[in-house]
Amino acid sequence: MSVTPPRLEIRNLVRRFDGRPVVDDVSLKVMPGQVTCLLGPSGCGKSTTLRMIAGVEMQDEGEIYVDGKLICDTVFRVPPERRHIGLMFQDFALFPHLTVGDNVAFGLSGSKDQKRARVKELLDKVGLKRFIDSYPYLLSGGEQQRVALARALAPRPKIMLMDEPFSGLDNRLRDDIRDQTLEVLKQEDAAVLLVTHEPEEAMRMADEIALMRDGRIVQQGAPYNIYYAPRDKQAVAFFSDTN
Ligand code: ADP
Ligand code: MG
Repeated sequence: MSVTPPRLEIRNLVRRFDGRPVVDDVSLKVMPGQVTCLLGPSGCGKSTTLRMIAGVEMQDEGEIYVDGKLICDTVFRVPPERRHIGLMFQDFALFPHLTVGDNVAFGLSGSKDQKRARVKELLDKVGLKRFIDSYPYLLSGGEQQRVALARALAPRPKIMLMDEPFSGLDNRLRDDIRDQTLEVLKQEDAAVLLVTHEPEEAMRMADEIALMRDGRIVQQGAPYNIYYAPRDKQAVAFFSDTN
């Protein structure tokens, strides 16, 4: 009997700054096709965790596995560009001197026709095919965000890491863009680790929530289990704080 390994698994990750652990024994799994949310207040260590997975920050302890294969421990390390990881951050900076199409094509290899076909497919999915030859400055913030999503997904990453990707957006747009983003992520069958400090966002998008505090995961489970059965007073306060 074979069991599908998690797409992403981190085991006992620790990162210290000046002797202080800011990520403190974090273990987590993300299954293919699922969105796992790392949810917690500002400063609890979410971005540091993502940076270690992306390979731009080294852990002091612990291991990272992709599809059951070790990609990083404290001695062995697959470089970031060979981890098949797509990244999206709050500051999703498109290349201003490239067209929308060329932005999306940026990380792609293959023939010109193959690249063009993939770019069109993705821009179609995010509803922006008409902008393929436009420059990013012509697009609204929400549209630019969707181009950044298309760009990150274009090379078919095994894992998408998203660090507060909606926080730069207008409140009015945010729910719609969250829904559209989720739809595209599901279509592309990405394994997603989404970082947010907003419970509402985690509730809306996650299949699984890992609640983080002071560098540790304090509770993990399906969104409604966490929402309706928060494990302690601090978790209750965090969920009822409307930010
Ligand atoms: P979050 O993303 O949850 O807001 P971060 O991972 O950015 O939290 O930061 C966690 C803690 O680690 C914070 O106290 C932050 O100041 C500290 N930190 C992050 N990066 C560094 C660094 N390079 N040097 C020293 N402290 C850092
Ligand atoms: Mg952060």
